[in-house]
Amino acid sequence: MLSLEDGKGLAFNYGRKSVVKTLRRTTAEFRKKIVSGEIRSVTAELILKKCEEALEESSQPSLKKVINLTGTVLHTNLGRALLPSKTIEEVADKYANPVTLEYDISKGKRGDRDDHIVGLIKELTNAEDATIVNNNAAAVFLTLNSLAQKREVIVSRSELVEIGGSFRIPDIMRKAGCRLVEVGTTNRTHLEDFEDAITEKTAMVMRVHWSNFKITGFTASVDQETLADLCKKRKIPFIEDLGSGTLLEMEKFGLPREPTIQSSLIKGTDLVLFSCDKLLGGPQAGIIAGNKELIKRIKRNPLRRCLRVGKLTLCALDSVLRMYLKEETLTTELTTMRLLTKSVDFIKAQTESNCFLVQNALEPEFRVEMVNMKGQVGSGSLPEDKLPSFGYKISSNSKKSKRSSQITKLERSFRKLSIPIIGRIKEDSLFLDLRCLMDEEEFAKSFIELKSTGL
Ligand SMILES: *Cc1c(COP(=O)(O)O)cnc(C)c1O
Repeated sequence: MLSLEDGKGLAFNYGRKSVVKTLRRTTAEFRKKIVSGEIRSVTAELILKKCEEALEESSQPSLKKVINLTGTVLHTNLGRALLPSKTIEEVADKYANPVTLEYDISKGKRGDRDDHIVGLIKELTNAEDATIVNNNAAAVFLTLNSLAQKREVIVSRSELVEIGGSFRIPDIMRKAGCRLVEVGTTNRTHLEDFEDAITEKTAMVMRVHWSNFKITGFTASVDQETLADLCKKRKIPFIEDLGSGTLLEMEKFGLPREPTIQSSLIKGTDLVLFSCDKLLGGPQAGIIAGNKELIKRIKRNPLRRCLRVGKLTLCALDSVLRMYLKEETLTTELTTMRLLTKSVDFIKAQTESNCFLVQNALEPEFRVEMVNMKGQVGSGSLPEDKLPSFGYKISSNSKKSKRSSQITKLERSFRKLSIPIIGRIKEDSLFLDLRCLMDEEEFAKSFIELKSTGL
């Protein structure tokens, strides 16, 4: 078959080795079908055709670009923060060339990769020092392991959270070699609870930000300054896992309030730990910022070498952090902030101007309405804090018993597009929230494709 014209063509396009392997696999499949009586014979053309389909499929990258119309801006399953185009350009050039990753160009000597952004972090947060690791989970793990191994860490019972993707505070503690000392109750924790728990075995007190839940009603907690004072008096570090750390006062931008990294440090926290691909809007990474002596101890841990970031991450983080030096242009330059601050009027205009295309592709089987909806910041910001938005509500025009399966089918068609569209199904309707729509041309093309391939 390799000597046939079609076979030669395949080898030219996909490489001889891959073609041979796929031909063997395809032939074996047909052979099985003949033996089982499912088919009686097969031609070389058919085998080659099947082979080509398989090769085409396996040559596609598994990681696909999608259009996020879920309404969740920092969608963990869709890769969280999107990098600004300016950052991408900077990264592309540096990634294709040698860079001063661990080279001090002024001295002509070996340097520290953290140095490239520690200055920026200090400038932006007033921290004394900082270090960068693979993600915030790694930041928490490394901090615990470096400062509290074989010792006790005190945490309020209200803060023993699970973030998702199996990040749970008690499990991380155990793996880091620390003994978790729970104090207080689920709803109420007092200063005496902490005071009574501190012994000579205590390595630190840790506060974990309530990223994704809320406790309301009869509650009490110890404020950060009071807890920091207590730790100072008893000479133990006070650490905060901030999760989605931000450098901005979000409420100034009309967004739900989120504690800032700077304010945590001002309140007396010795080390603050946060993600770089949540509200910060950068690449996946985690930062530990604060007390110089503690950072020094963390940097001496051999595990840090296992959790370090690559040059791709450092380049991108450097670019994004530099944008924060000029707050005035953040909502245009930084993609995450641009999407979060997009006005409902603007989203509404986008929805209206593309409505005809959507209706044209989906009617008459489906009904397309333009409606107000509520999105989310995502990635550990409170799911209760909704972002007002706008978009399409798509419902089936079939009889009631078939509506749900029609919507499921439509959702599948959206996922099968060249650039899949990801929406959200709620109560037998498919919702497309246009807050995160960036490329309208691409969006339009998708609906033309949908129309031509059929639902
Ligand atoms: C998100 C989050 C983490 C994990 O951060 P990653 O960067 O996803 O590893 C840890 N703690 C809190 C409180 C979080 O919100």
